[in-house]
Amino acid sequence: MGEREEVDYRTIQTRHGKEAEDAILRVLRAGASYTMGDEVKGFEEQFTRFLGAGVAVGVTHCTAALELSAALCRVGQGDEVIVPAHTFVSSAVAFARRGAKIVWADIDPDARVMSIDTVAPLVTERTRVIVAVHLMGLTVDMDPILELAGERNIRVVEDCAQAPGARYRGRQVGTLGDFGCFSFHTQKNMTTLGEGGMLVVRDEETATVVKKLRWMGNWQFEGERERYWEPSMANLVCGLEGEWPYNFCLSEFNAAVGQVELKRLDGVNADRQQQAKVLMEGLADVEELSFQKVGPGCEHVYHMMPVKYDGARSGKTRSDLIGLLYNEYGIKCYVHYMPLYRFDLFRAMGCDGADCPVTDEYYDSMYGYPWWSNMSDELLERFIASTREACIRLRG
Ligand SMILES: *Cc1c(COP(=O)(O)O)cnc(C)c1O
Repeated sequence: MGEREEVDYRTIQTRHGKEAEDAILRVLRAGASYTMGDEVKGFEEQFTRFLGAGVAVGVTHCTAALELSAALCRVGQGDEVIVPAHTFVSSAVAFARRGAKIVWADIDPDARVMSIDTVAPLVTERTRVIVAVHLMGLTVDMDPILELAGERNIRVVEDCAQAPGARYRGRQVGTLGDFGCFSFHTQKNMTTLGEGGMLVVRDEETATVVKKLRWMGNWQFEGERERYWEPSMANLVCGLEGEWPYNFCLSEFNAAVGQVELKRLDGVNADRQQQAKVLMEGLADVEELSFQKVGPGCEHVYHMMPVKYDGARSGKTRSDLIGLLYNEYGIKCYVHYMPLYRFDLFRAMGCDGADCPVTDEYYDSMYGYPWWSNMSDELLERFIASTREACIRLRG
């Protein structure tokens, strides 16, 4: 290999196309309020149609969707919420903020996301919500969890930030539990560029509650008014008893881009699945490496491409492998997600008690490739050849 040419996840290509640029300019030139108009409405309608079930409500980001879910689940002091520790911070904070006790769920050793086996032993009389995170793009095996939740009157919130468009037994994620939370942040499989999110609820009635909470309680007056300025220009209502409203409004620019990008989502996911197949097949014979196992009825849309490295036999760690891949092959791999209970933030907030040996072991032995859709065959080949060579070198 000649010059060491570095590749990291910021090497993202095809962030958006001409159609997204046109959409932004169209909104800009229309000169309306730039927020909460026809674009948001259109995006919500299209997303609902795409899911084929539920009702989608546009929000600022997935964190907002999770916060609203926590409010709608009436989570409060004394409640327990089951959350995988192997996830992004928002999945837990939305519930912890309301005074709930976070009960950390371990991950399945093969799928490396939560499962009925890791969740069931944690359920108590106080369990109010189970947060199912389709992490890395792999759907959680939902049916047994939904069944348990149904029997025990527990709400299920799906964190779909990393798996938009993934199907579980033929149904879209986000339509399986009580609430589905989506992120369209720049780095996700589908982006509205910058920020964006969607909360999916089961019925119109709940969607109306969400809409009242979404913009500080602003809501139209009931019936006709004789004078538009009386009793005031705007009306404020309480969407949900005992809950203050938020400002989680989505901008028209994001919603316009969202309509464009939604059309590309299935293609982007298919692309990522094909890339993952090439990479996994190319490395199948390297015995130190293993990949997330996709169980029956589940789908993986490969938001990320995580790999477990088992170097025990040669006394090597994943850090040895990452260091070698970076220093000698210019491939900047990453590690995700440190169990949340290990962070200062969660320790300081009293959320550090956990019994998640699989999560701990997995986090300490995993790495992920720089990853986006539409990667070149050459780059994938480089990942495969470099990784194989690095693993062999580490055998010593
Ligand atoms: C990105 C992400 C979020 C937060 O999404 P935002 O839109 O940035 O608020 C939540 N959960 C998971 C699993 C994520 O990856």
